This record gives sequence, structure tokens and C-alpha cells, in this order.
Amino acid sequence: EVLKEKGLNVKVETMDDDSDHPVVKKTGCCGLCSLGPLVKFTPSGITYHHVRVEDVEEIVEKTIKRGEIIERLLLTDSVTGKKVKRLEDATFFKNQTFYVMEGIGTSECEKIEDYMGRGGYKSLIKVISSMDRKEVIKTIKDSGLRGRGGGGFPTGLKWEFAYNAKGDKKFVVCNADEGDPGAFMNRTLLERDPHSVLEGMIIAAYTIGAQKGYAYIRAEYPIAVEMFNKAIKDAKSLGLLGENILGTGFSFDVEVKEGAGAFVCGEETALLASIEGKRGVPRPRPPFPAQRGLFGYPTLINNVETYANVPKIIRDGVEKYRRNGVEKSPGTKMFSVTGPLKLTGIIEIQFGTTIRYILENICGGTTDGKKLKAIQIGGPSGACLPEKYFDLPLDYDTLKSVDAMVGSGGIVAITEDSCMVEVARFFLDFTKRESCGKCVPCREGTMQAYSILEKFTQGKATEEDLRNLEDLSQIIKKASLCGLGKTAPNPILSTLKHFRDEYVEHINGKC
Ligand code: SF4
Repeated sequence: EVLKEKGLNVKVETMDDDSDHPVVKKTGCCGLCSLGPLVKFTPSGITYHHVRVEDVEEIVEKTIKRGEIIERLLLTDSVTGKKVKRLEDATFFKNQTFYVMEGIGTSECEKIEDYMGRGGYKSLIKVISSMDRKEVIKTIKDSGLRGRGGGGFPTGLKWEFAYNAKGDKKFVVCNADEGDPGAFMNRTLLERDPHSVLEGMIIAAYTIGAQKGYAYIRAEYPIAVEMFNKAIKDAKSLGLLGENILGTGFSFDVEVKEGAGAFVCGEETALLASIEGKRGVPRPRPPFPAQRGLFGYPTLINNVETYANVPKIIRDGVEKYRRNGVEKSPGTKMFSVTGPLKLTGIIEIQFGTTIRYILENICGGTTDGKKLKAIQIGGPSGACLPEKYFDLPLDYDTLKSVDAMVGSGGIVAITEDSCMVEVARFFLDFTKRESCGKCVPCREGTMQAYSILEKFTQGKATEEDLRNLEDLSQIIKKASLCGLGKTAPNPILSTLKHFRDEYVEHINGKC
């Protein structure tokens, strides 16, 4: 409206690049959450941050009409501290490796034409017109792609199990129930590039022989739900989804199922129960979903980011995919980085990048110069790693070797003034509340462990409480039924291992 008032005949959200009017396009988030909303001008590439409605008039007068730069709206580089004109020149972006997040901040994420203009759906066409199903599985296996939902299970192997499973029907499910506090990679991808996830699902369905798919998306992500539903509708309108896809006789349909916000529904068997209309609680495995999943039929479940990798691997080939990352964890990974850092948001790095590189060379270190003491990595049930581990390469196996995990991809930076006992209490409070209550070790154990942690933070704990907390954490880890319970004690066990002195200080009344 302001642009129109200024006498500029502006087209909003149009693909008409030949227009001689200024064109305003709505893109997805480019990852710099802490500086949004961003406005980028093309072709100059000049980018403004924290743009408010009150700024528009000045932007029109100075930047659009006269080509002048408004200094105060320019980005400040996280590492050099200098003003940068172009988004691409900011160290935050230069030091990342974009693969899944390609087209960052420039693509019109709502439009299937934009996705197709970037090579979208070419992989689906290639797969169903010229590739044998086993060849697709071999490609995914050769790529070394591992599940991005947390476990890091080899995706190609999972697809092979589902392909070999016998069943009158098969299902493909996308796990978009991203419930970790501080993690929003899946949300970003679904909002920004929904077709890449949908294309990955259709390729998976063709490969294993599935007829129906579900995208299980958190109801707290209304834009992601809206965007994915639009993607489904648009893909159907072009014959890329639904009956007789591209005239090949292959039919596949996808439906969005909104999750009601239970963290445990991110566990695959609980998620399937929820889609079936039952209470979302996990069940023992085996049988695994690939053998007996949704409604008793073989089911392939992958995470949002896993599916988004698939079309690119098919399109660009295994070799290009493996150029990033390390031997056993090839490719890239999206992380959400939060905490008192100069820049926070969504980043994409190749596996093998060090934690220190992320914190310092991408996010620019702490805001107030305080020393970083630890990170908490892998979601609410991830481990806390002290500063001495910051130079370890970030990949599935290295993190496992130090009792940590990639998990969903959440990184929380913790500075020297934070109490690690309080950090453990904070995360256990979350997992305790999210326990579904089915099994005793998790249901009762997390409650008891939380009570002991409260004694520490209230200055009432004893040496015996310290021993009990350690024993109880080990029992919860070993005896719980599903991943939620098995990993819930990780913040306690890792802080006991690396920051035991802080527990002792609480006992001795020193803090
Ligand atoms: Fe439920 Fe916890 Fe048992 Fe998992 S471990 S089934 S969340 S009670």
C-alpha cells in the first residue's frame, strides 16, 4: 500500500520478471531469523534487515527511486562487525554449505513454477520414466544418505526393507512432528520449499510401491500445513500427484495429518498410531514399520529433511552429494542455532564442520563477549558438551563417540554464567511432561529425577542425592520403551560427566 501511495505501480508476488514495474516477491525465510524481516533488492543484491512498515516510505524514496543505500538498515557482519551490502557477502552465509537450502531467500516458495524453474520434479520424471526401482534404492544407498530425524539410520537400507516387505498396500509417511524446543529446521523447509519434500515422498512411494502417503505436520505450524496442502494441490493440477501420474499408471496420493502437539508422536510408532486415530503412544519394535506399520501394512517413514535430499541426489548424482560431508556422514545438515550469539537462526553446514566453526565463524560468537561454556546438542534429550569438545567434527559417529547425538539438529549455546544443573533441570522438565506414561521407568523415573534436580537447585541436595540421580538416570536410559525415555536422561548424564563440580557446589551451598 505504501508503495502504491508513492506512485509506484508495483506488482506483488508475481513471476513476471519482464515487467518494467518494481516487483515484490515473497520468499521463504533465509535462515537469519534474528534479523528478519529482510528485504533484498535485485539485481543489486542490497539487503536490509529488521525492516518495518515505517521504513517503507524512506526505502521507496531513497533506494528504489534514487538508488541510495540506507546505512542503518544494512546488515552488520557477525564476524567482522562491518556493514555488508549484499546478503551473500555476510559471513553468516559465506561460511555455510547450501544444498537442501539452495535457492535460499530468493525463491518464491509458494509457487510450483518457481520450484520447477529450479529443476524441481525433474528427478521424479527421471525416476518414473527411466529408472528401475532397485536402481533408485541403489542410488540412495550409494549416496550414504542417513535419516535426518535423529537416529541417522541409512535411508537406502530403510527403503530396501520397505520395498522387500510384502503387503497388499504400502504407505509412505513424512515425519514433520518437530516438537523439540529450539528446533525449527523442518518448519523452515516445509514453509520455504514444500515441493522438495513432496517430490521426495513421491519418489519414495514409486520406489517401494506405495499408493498412499501422509505428511504428519505439527498443528502448531499452520503456515507449513497451508504451504504443504497448496503444494499437494498444485502438484495434482499438473499430474505430478494423484491418479496415473504423468500417464505412467503409477498412482499416489498424499494427505496432511495435523499432529496435536505431543512430543512423543515424533517417535515413529506413536506417530503411526496417531494417524490411525488412536492415542499416540509408542509400541515395542519389532515389528518395524517397514514390516508392519500403518494399519498393519508396510510403511516407510522418513523425516522432512531426508525427503528433501532425495530429488537433489537423483538430479545431481551421488558423487556431487558425497562431495560434502565425511565418509560415514556424507552431505549436509540443517541446524537451528539459538542462545546468546550474535546471529541465530537456521544454518546448513556439511558434516565434519566443527562446533567452534559454527559458533564463531557463522554465528559470530557471543553477543556480550561472555565466554561460551558448553552447547546442548540434539534436542531436549541431547547431551551438553563442554568447550573442550568444540573442535570435534560434527557428524553422527563422532558425536556418538562422546555420548552425544545429532538428533533433530538443535544447538543451544550456553555461556559461562549459566548453571549446568539448572540447564539439566530445564530440559528434564520438558521430557518429563512429554512422557506418554506407558512405561514405568520413563513415567516415574523422570518425575523422580526431576524432584532430585529440584533439590539441587534449591540447595537441599546431599551426596546421596547425587548417587541416586546417577543411578536413576542409568535405569531410565536402559529400561524405557522408546527413544524419548531412553534419551531423556542425557542432559543429566552429560552434565554429571562434564560439570560434576557444579552439582557438588550446590551440595556444598556454594551456589
Ligand atoms: Fe512413553 Fe516414555 Fe515409555 Fe516412551 S519411554 S513409551 S514416552 S513412557
